[in-house]
Amino acid sequence: MPDGASEYGMDCGATDLLAEHGAQPSTKNGNRDRDADHCEEWYDGEGEGEDNEDMEEEFREADDEEDVIGSGPQPSEPASPAAGANTVPHGGPGKVRSTIAKWLYTDYKDMCERLKNEMRRNISGKPNCYDGGQFIINPPAPIFEASRRYQLSPQIFQRPRYFVWLPHLFHCIPCPPCKLASRTRKDGGAVMLCLLSWPRMPRRVTDIEANIFIIGQRYYCGDERCRRTYQSWSKAILDAIPQSLAAHFTYSLTFRSGLTDRLVALLRSCFQRGMGPSPFAEMIRTFHIRRYELLHIQYLEMVKTRAQFATTGILALHRPFGTWADVDGYAGFVPSQSYFRAFYDALIEKHAPEIDQHMAMLPADILSIDHSFKVD
Ligand SMILES: [Zn+2]
Repeated sequence: MPDGASEYGMDCGATDLLAEHGAQPSTKNGNRDRDADHCEEWYDGEGEGEDNEDMEEEFREADDEEDVIGSGPQPSEPASPAAGANTVPHGGPGKVRSTIAKWLYTDYKDMCERLKNEMRRNISGKPNCYDGGQFIINPPAPIFEASRRYQLSPQIFQRPRYFVWLPHLFHCIPCPPCKLASRTRKDGGAVMLCLLSWPRMPRRVTDIEANIFIIGQRYYCGDERCRRTYQSWSKAILDAIPQSLAAHFTYSLTFRSGLTDRLVALLRSCFQRGMGPSPFAEMIRTFHIRRYELLHIQYLEMVKTRAQFATTGILALHRPFGTWADVDGYAGFVPSQSYFRAFYDALIEKHAPEIDQHMAMLPADILSIDHSFKVD
């Protein structure tokens, strides 16, 4: 039983969260999960061509955990993205959304496999990064990998940073609606969520100078009356686990995208001091491009040291590094100013009652009255 299970005062059930990855019920009538559908696309707004519908959709209350599973087979591993495509139709005729880059999908799949093997191998049952006290898996500095190979590839300079969010390794997770309805198992214990599979795609969130990709876990409720599925990063799960653990999930997610808390803090600070959404978006984009350019320079410097081998034919010619936004290369992305503006609006609306309360509690040091006798 994972540590801390007794915090709930419940018996987790030996088979619940310790079930093998990929014990697989599937969606009713063969339909794919709604959360999985949602996961197969990313928010792609970069320019100013977004309409209000886009923003409303992005900032609506996330309901990706409201799925119901049925019976039948379902693949335990992430499904392949559409062959040869980085986009899928969405939102009506002619509307296209970006999906995961193929190289990133391969990297993600390899990382899931690596985590699975680590959890199986380690005595703790946790991945190496957890045993090392980290949620983050940082890519190695390119020079270490480059020193082990003669032929350089831009890909070793473009490896993503992952945040591994597997809260079931710390605590058994009670099913939120079953807990609300006071449902219990046959033995009287609380209904706990079980492992379902890896999400089909990682969740991309934007940080100050790069993007971070969250690797989560999909759970399902085995109770016949419920059968819901959840992503480990969904609000329902973050609310269901102890806040001491949930506090380590330092990301603010919207429907398909998200920002790190660091970036949100910077956004709030800039907006409160007069910097608007447009210069803010431009500033973040500049930070991201700066990092890309530093990596590009590192690549070119290393290529230069191998240039004589390439000209004599010992090595093949090196591939161009590609552009910042090249979806098959660096795949740079920064949300648009509309996104940042809508994010801040949503943040203020969420905290409006607290702001009103604070305003109401301020002392009336200065009162003024105008000729209409209204008190300001
Ligand atoms: Zn349930």
